[in-house]
Amino acid sequence: MIIKTPHGDIQTPVFMPVGTNATVKSLSPEDLESIGAQIILANNYHLFLRPGSENIQKMGGIHKFMNWDKPILTDSGGFQIWSLGMKYDENGINFRDFVTGQKHFWTPEDAIKSQIQIGADIIMPLDICTRTDNYAEAKYMTDLTHKWLSRCKDYLRSNQVTNNKSLFGIIQGAMFKDLRRQSAQFVVDLDLPGIALGGEMLENNSVNRIPEIMDWIRDILPPDKPVYAMGIGLHPSEFKTVVAAGVDMFDCVAPTRLARNGALYCSDSPTERIDISKAIYALDENPIDKKCDCPTCKSYSRAYLHHLFKCKELLFYRLASMHNLRVMIRQVIR
Ligand SMILES: [Zn+2]
Repeated sequence: MIIKTPHGDIQTPVFMPVGTNATVKSLSPEDLESIGAQIILANNYHLFLRPGSENIQKMGGIHKFMNWDKPILTDSGGFQIWSLGMKYDENGINFRDFVTGQKHFWTPEDAIKSQIQIGADIIMPLDICTRTDNYAEAKYMTDLTHKWLSRCKDYLRSNQVTNNKSLFGIIQGAMFKDLRRQSAQFVVDLDLPGIALGGEMLENNSVNRIPEIMDWIRDILPPDKPVYAMGIGLHPSEFKTVVAAGVDMFDCVAPTRLARNGALYCSDSPTERIDISKAIYALDENPIDKKCDCPTCKSYSRAYLHHLFKCKELLFYRLASMHNLRVMIRQVIR
């Protein structure tokens, strides 16, 4: 499937590197190009707080600001606010700046307004992450997510920005089949350009529950719209099943976070990764993974990476992140 955006086409299935603060940690846009990244993610909550969505708009929008002219998706920030602890009511979410402690309140419209100011190509609605096994609670959260999604769509339409902004709908419903089906139907009926799966399967970044949820809702989903599984992708091998289940888009912080901690994906290892800090790599002339086509594996040995990691050299973070991301980007298309 091809997803069209004002900053170019995206060929799916696609893995999207996470650049929370308008930067994929330790990598330049040129580095991202070199590993085949088609689209990156940024985070509405973090950018709203710093440098401020309005300031990004004043600087010509996020693409110009960070020098990345390919597509960008912003997450609404609902998940970050949820995971940092927040209070919500029918009208929106109370949250705090995790650095200064300053209080803020967002309506669904505020979350969209901020993403428009940032200037992303694909934007996400404010939602409530249904990670609960209580049916009544899951139903309340799912219904509220639906109300907020309608408000987000109306806000876009009333501000006439529907032409260059793709708003995706998010299916919630925890692990309750009837709620997931109701949620899928609600989102599909709104006729938005893309459909996301949120909630339960975010647990440990695991993809385990996704094929099951996709089986529940597949007959409802339109074949011509991308399905985005939010925030998952820890082990490269997991993608085969999820792509086969019909998911087109993925993002996860795991590849870059693992990389910075010295955990490098390696197809020969039973755990799918090696711990480069181990002494056995001190004199290892091999690349991280002989089958990898990334710039790091082309030019650098495990011994050198082991040395850089031990010395906490900044180059390590860049080389390691390029490798882990390239593995994920390649993995979803093979
Ligand atoms: Zn590599």
